[in-house]
Order: sequence, then structure tokens, then C-alpha cells
Amino acid sequence: MAAKIIDGKAHAARLRARVASGVAEYKLMAGRVPGLAVVLVGEDPASAVYVRNKVRQTLEVSMASFEHKLPAETSQTDLIALIEALNTDQRVDGILVQLPLPKPLDELAVVSAIDPDKDVDGLHVVSAGRLASGIPGLVSCTPLGCMMLLRDTLGDDLSGKDAVVIGRSILVGKPVAQLLLAANCTVTVAHSRTQNLPEVVRRADIVVAAVGCAEMVKADWIKPGACVIDVGINRVPSDIPGKTKLVGDVAFAEVAQVAGSISPVPGGVGPMTIACLLHNTLQAAHQRSGLVNK
Ligand code: NAD
Repeated sequence: MAAKIIDGKAHAARLRARVASGVAEYKLMAGRVPGLAVVLVGEDPASAVYVRNKVRQTLEVSMASFEHKLPAETSQTDLIALIEALNTDQRVDGILVQLPLPKPLDELAVVSAIDPDKDVDGLHVVSAGRLASGIPGLVSCTPLGCMMLLRDTLGDDLSGKDAVVIGRSILVGKPVAQLLLAANCTVTVAHSRTQNLPEVVRRADIVVAAVGCAEMVKADWIKPGACVIDVGINRVPSDIPGKTKLVGDVAFAEVAQVAGSISPVPGGVGPMTIACLLHNTLQAAHQRSGLVNK
């Protein structure tokens, strides 16, 4: 059996189009467009690329973009002062601080300085607490993207499905597990200390792999027909000498022979992340204005 390939690129394009029309409607109601502030500290090339893509896609959906590039030696006090200014700036609905921050900046303290109602990355402890308590709030982008792909593939009702999340990070594993639980799945969170991992994964109708270990999940770990969402992004040597390529945490070619559906890397979860950031910014704008997000 060949699995259905979950096209994250196409799904992200549809989500961006929905956000763009939501921005136009918001402008009519609120008299302004939603705004996203992105803060980049230092010169990390990968972070600079991510920020460039975020800014470009923000402008493409006609939101306002506020980009703040700070030198690596920025002090914690100055960085938090900028965040506090963005918290009170009425044009700004979402604030994203690009991680990782250069040392010795304290990421927890910096993220905690963001107004939770503008925490479009969903990384504030208040956002995590709202998610765990079932209180509506902003959900971190990659986990939200995973859920959108799952619902698009399996339908809105995920009740009673057995879900195994591999990975328990604050960024991906834990929030995905919370979202699956909220969707009435029976959720197992596996991690580096889990015993008999293949056996645990084999009982899952839904597998979310968020480990950071190239092609770790093999075909004989997968229940026939399961839906496999691969969050991993791993750079490995390619067949072309001196070149590298991206692979996920799932051995795609062999797992696609067993699974019912599978998200590829690249082109699966990855494109959903920025689209969900824009979705969250629009949601934050509606909530802050007391308007209904249709
Ligand atoms: P992390 O390193 O913070 O967490 C990895 C988790 O995997 C840990 O909870 C650990 O317990 C678990 N783990 C490690 N080795 C294991 C093993 N052998 N067996 C079972 N579990 C094991 O990573 P993260 O931030 O959660 O990211 C995970 C992957 O997802 C990375 O490849 C990252 O690049 C990718 N990622 C992709 C996106 C995206 O698509 N936009 C966003 C975030 C992260």
C-alpha cells in the first residue's frame, strides 16, 4: 500500500490565502491591519533566513511588519525594554523573538517579558498553561500546523484515536500531546528514556515524530494505515559528494509503504509553521480588538 502524501506546502498556501482575506476583513472592521513584530538578536545565519521569510510572508498577507535587528552584544535589560515597548504599541498584535538567543541572554526571561496576548509563538508559560488547562489562547505554530495537517487528512473528529508523540520538548512534543488530548485522542508521549519504542509506536493510529534523529522511525514500527506526521528536520550527506539534504525523523520511503498517510520532509510540517504564525497574529489582533475571528 502506498501512503497518501500530506502536502504541507499546498495546505500552507491555502492557510495564507485565508489569512490574507481575514486581514482584509479585519481592516474593514478595525480600521488598521494586524501587525507582527519580529526581533532578531545577533548574526546567526539560519535565524536571519527564518526572520527574512517571516517578514516576507507577513507582508504578502498585507499585515504590518516591524522588524528589529539587534547586535549580539545587546543586554538583557535593553532587549526586555524593547519587548515592553512592543507590548504597549497598539499597532503590534504579535511579538516573536527569534530563538536561539546569543549567550548570555536568558531565553526564558525574555520570552516571559512578552505580553501573553501577543505571544504568537505560543512559548510563554501563560500560553502553555492555557493550553494545558483548555483555556483558549495562542498555540505554538509547529504543533498547530501538525494538528491542521492531521485534521485535513483524517477529518475533524480525531476522538478515540491512539496517538503516539515521539519527543517531549516544550516547543513541539508537549504542546502536540496537549492538542491531541484536547481532540480526545488517547495520547502516549514517548521520549529518549522510553522502553521498547517500536512496540509503543506500533499501536498508534497517529504518529507524530519530533525527535531530531534522521530517519529513526522505521516501517516495522508503523501500524498499517496509520497517519504519520514527521516534524524532524535533519541535514545529512546527500548522494552528491559534498552536498547535504534534509530528511525527517521518519524513514520516508519505507514507512510510506505501510502508513495510510505521511507528511514528507521537506514540504510537510515545515511550511505550516510560518503560515500558523500569520494565523496566530490575525487571531491575536481579533482578540485584542474584541472582534470575532470568523
Ligand atoms: P528537542 O531536541 O528539544 O527534543 C527532542 C525530543 O526527542 C526530546 O524530548 C527527547 O526526549 C526525544 N528523543 C531524543 N532521542 C530520542 C530517541 N532516541 N528516542 C525517542 N525520543 C528521543 O527537539 P525539538 O525542538 O522538539 O525538535 C524536534 C525536531 O523537530 C528537530 O529535528 C527540529 O529541527 C524539528 N523542528 C521542526 C520544526 C518545523 O518543522 N517547523 C519546528 C520545530 C522543530
